[in-house]
Amino acid sequence: MTRMEPQPGIMDIALYVGGASQIAGVSDVVKLSSNENPFGPSPAAIAAVERSARTLHRYPSTDHASLRAALAEVHGLDAARIICGVGSDEIIHFLCQAYAGPGDEVLYTQHGFAMYRISAMAAGATPVEVAERDRTVHVDAILAACTEHTRLVFIANPANPTGTFIQLGEVERLAEGLPEQCLLVLDGAYAEFEEGYDGGAALIEHRDNVVMTRTFSKLYGLGGLRVGWGYASRDIIDVLNRVRGPFNLSSTALEAAEAALGDHAYVEKCLAENAKMRSWLTEALRGLGIGVDDSHANFVLARFSDPAEADACEAHLKTQGLIVRKVAGYKLPEALRITVGDESACRRVVHAIGQFK
Ligand code: PMP
Repeated sequence: MTRMEPQPGIMDIALYVGGASQIAGVSDVVKLSSNENPFGPSPAAIAAVERSARTLHRYPSTDHASLRAALAEVHGLDAARIICGVGSDEIIHFLCQAYAGPGDEVLYTQHGFAMYRISAMAAGATPVEVAERDRTVHVDAILAACTEHTRLVFIANPANPTGTFIQLGEVERLAEGLPEQCLLVLDGAYAEFEEGYDGGAALIEHRDNVVMTRTFSKLYGLGGLRVGWGYASRDIIDVLNRVRGPFNLSSTALEAAEAALGDHAYVEKCLAENAKMRSWLTEALRGLGIGVDDSHANFVLARFSDPAEADACEAHLKTQGLIVRKVAGYKLPEALRITVGDESACRRVVHAIGQFK
């Protein structure tokens, strides 16, 4: 019998998980550490959750046909090329299970999302980290790091935790230049926040070495229900479905996601609020002398002069009931990642950082 060597797993990477939403002895706490929708799920999704309770004795759909059809309709895609997972985390996991194993390399960049490494290691593959420049993914650096063993390249666009975005032309150049045996995974967890960006869907129409992953956890406010999806060629989707369990998504999750997707007015309102408060927060933090790159997502990365200052600021924010994310685990120890909250939360953050400074 072969046994996996002990590897760091999710329980060892406390920095990955969203962390507490309460602080002992502090009331009126706002959690701005997991890039969640500050307005919560759409009322339509809440109603769907309540409705779904009546049929909980039934097993859920195994083919997710209804949600896939709704996604195909909204995004103008082919439903047969969509796969749904328990968060996009599960799609990332399927990709590693299906396409990478011992002796294979899985590439991602310096500040890349933690699940790439965890899923690569769970598959027995070798994780390979490529340096970024100015907190941005560079295509030539990735291409130079590819070898005959590279099977998967993950990039998030917009990226977490940096919030940076690489243009589609660059993504296409990457897809074009990869070795033949290698798939490019475009992680679109924050795609909706970049106006006019399709997450790479159009690219997939003419390139069968590209996979897109998406989620209901961010804009759609359903992180707690765990719904994500992927889009790729039929062949890739067929392979991924072979490592998927038959009932991976609960009926409640499927129904809520479909309802959330259909609530266009709510989605538009959340997007508009995010854009407005993101630029307000960016400018206000810059006004306090803090380095902030333009963010293309629903959070900003605030860079302090050194890790000690970032730690002290995080501790101060906690005393004010504000939970933000240290990103030391993403090799950015001098930075704090702050979710764009509603107006009152953003004002509280700026006020508290102003006091700290
Ligand atoms: N990719 C990126 C870049 C993320 O930031 C996240 C969530 N933090 C995910 C994927 C996974 O999201 P979920 O599993 O909730 O869909």
